[in-house]
Amino acid sequence: MGRTVVVLGGGISGLAASYHLSRAPCPPKVVLVESSERLGGWIRSVRGPNGAIFELGPRGIRPAGALGARTLLLVSLRDSSLEADHVISAIPASVLSELLPAEAAPLARALSAITAVSVAVVNLQYQGAHLPVQGFGHLVPSSEDPGVLGIVYDSVAFPEQDGSPPGLRVTVMLGGSWLQTLEASGCVLSQELFQQRAQEAAATQLGLKEMPSHCLVHLHKNCIPQYTLGHWQKLESARQFLTAHRLPLTLAGASYEGVAVNDCIESGRQAAVSVLGTEPNS
Ligand SMILES: Cc1cc2nc3c(=O)[nH]c(=O)nc-3n(C[C@H](O)[C@H](O)[C@H](O)COP(=O)(O)OP(=O)(O)OC[C@H]3O[C@@H](n4cnc5c(N)ncnc54)[C@H](O)[C@@H]3O)c2cc1C
Repeated sequence: MGRTVVVLGGGISGLAASYHLSRAPCPPKVVLVESSERLGGWIRSVRGPNGAIFELGPRGIRPAGALGARTLLLVSLRDSSLEADHVISAIPASVLSELLPAEAAPLARALSAITAVSVAVVNLQYQGAHLPVQGFGHLVPSSEDPGVLGIVYDSVAFPEQDGSPPGLRVTVMLGGSWLQTLEASGCVLSQELFQQRAQEAAATQLGLKEMPSHCLVHLHKNCIPQYTLGHWQKLESARQFLTAHRLPLTLAGASYEGVAVNDCIESGRQAAVSVLGTEPNS
């Protein structure tokens, strides 16, 4: 009988792992387990009332070099148990750490130490407004503003997604020490608070002083893993545990070796390679 590989997590990392597993000359049975109602993880687009498209997660990839070339290649569980020959985990390290059995406590400890920070994404649309500059967007140093990470000029890259009637779209990313302090204080993180902060940033930094015609606010909790001092030692200790105990578990996803979409796709591909023991067809 053929092998069964379970892939945990239907974000881009898990989808990439599943894709590459299914491209093997003798593909294993692949079961993708996703806990939410949709695939894609942090990658999500929604349509506004005038047809404009708003990105709630990433909107840019770097399709450069060998890693980039592979970037462009490109299911619900009712029962509580599944049998598999191998598991690829493409869920956040801290989530996996809570699913592991007691025997794997050293592995769980290493994984739970890989933490992530939250980002509030505020999509704004303005009718009849114009940007003072053109480009992908700008970043804001924390010394200038501890809460605004940057603003993406969505209309510049994709003007065809401005809807009808078209309106200027920008996305303000809020986070940093400002958000961490707010989260730690336990105070209510209201949509109004984020909207007001984002509108102020758009007004001061881009001169967009009018009221937006449309606004979407999403607080993505623990969405960006942080590779803090000692990260590589944590990875090494997790890998040593997996090897020493010959566990049929492979780690993939943003928690480990790169948070960018390209890195996640590559981590999914590498997980598939390690499970198959050979390069899948590309
Ligand atoms: C706001 C924002 C903007 C970004 N912008 C960019 C950008 O412009 N360019 C770029 O390259 N990168 C960007 N990134 C980073 C990139 O989008 C993410 O690092 C990447 O999408 C993570 O993919 P992933 O599959 O590893 O994890 P996730 O997307 O977190 O997917 C994990 C999946 O696992 C599921 N899951 C969790 N727990 C369980 C469980 N117990 N059982 C089953 N399933 C479970 C989740 O529901 C989720 O679907 C951005 C990220 C954010 C949040």
